[in-house]
Amino acid sequence: MDTKHPLVLPEGGPLVRFADVTKRYGDLTVLDQLNLDVGHNEMVSIIGPSGSGKTTVLRVLMTLEAINDGVIYLDGDPLTHMPKGNGLVVANEKYLRQKRTGIGMVFQQFNLFPHMTALQNCIEAPIQVLGMNRDEAEDRAIDLLRLVGMYEKKDQHPSRLSGGQQQRVAIARALAMRPKVMLLDEVTSALDPEVIGEVLNVIRSLNSEHNLTMIMVTHQMGFAREISDRVCFFYAGKIAEQGTPDQLFDDPQNDRTKQFLRAVLDAN
Ligand code: ADP
Ligand code: MG
Repeated sequence: MDTKHPLVLPEGGPLVRFADVTKRYGDLTVLDQLNLDVGHNEMVSIIGPSGSGKTTVLRVLMTLEAINDGVIYLDGDPLTHMPKGNGLVVANEKYLRQKRTGIGMVFQQFNLFPHMTALQNCIEAPIQVLGMNRDEAEDRAIDLLRLVGMYEKKDQHPSRLSGGQQQRVAIARALAMRPKVMLLDEVTSALDPEVIGEVLNVIRSLNSEHNLTMIMVTHQMGFAREISDRVCFFYAGKIAEQGTPDQLFDDPQNDRTKQFLRAVLDAN
């Protein structure tokens, strides 16, 4: 039972809050009492060295992994926990299933259902999980496939699509659930260089025209700099430094940040 963290956040609070979140795998502490708030409509990028806990942040927020300590909140309510009496207890599967629909995630390796067409990929969860009727789900999926420039390919299976096209379908599929927040984990890392731009364009339009709240893990410093409201530099399961793109890229204060930026910018 957790009585240290509130049962709900005050009105006007962040969309996502990590409150003292610790995640361990055996003896390895991957997230170390992490505190992170993401505001409504904010675009936050997470950068940092391999193994610093970037993917883990997204996976625990997606509730794919349980945390060991602390609480994550979504839109004011606890996500990893549920209220009981005057405290919070670890959420059960039913509670998680319901809350999880508020979060969309896109992975490095697309993860589309191979036996379904692009359209079927985008209607499956809205029908099965949200209980939407088929016509409504299809109308919405078609709008979203148009949005990501994949309407013409709606009846193709993933194996007939390029990596960039598959990734755009994966974005449409996540949006079909009308998530409150979208999580993007290195979504261009597995793509051929010539198709990276088409995926970045989609993300850019979600951010600028659709005002989606997004948390994006990326190695593309130029892109992070261009579209983020805030950039967080992760080191050893903590935020070592965060700020606006200008602050973080032009005037980093932390030695780890400086070292990391020097290494990645040299490599490009
Ligand atoms: P990043 O995305 O920043 O490269 P991750 O969040 O994937 O880092 O991983 C952080 C650390 O946690 C790494 O040391 C990784 O090996 C470890 N880790 C991740 N997932 C697991 C797991 N399922 N079991 C054990 N260790 C894990
Ligand atoms: Mg990762």
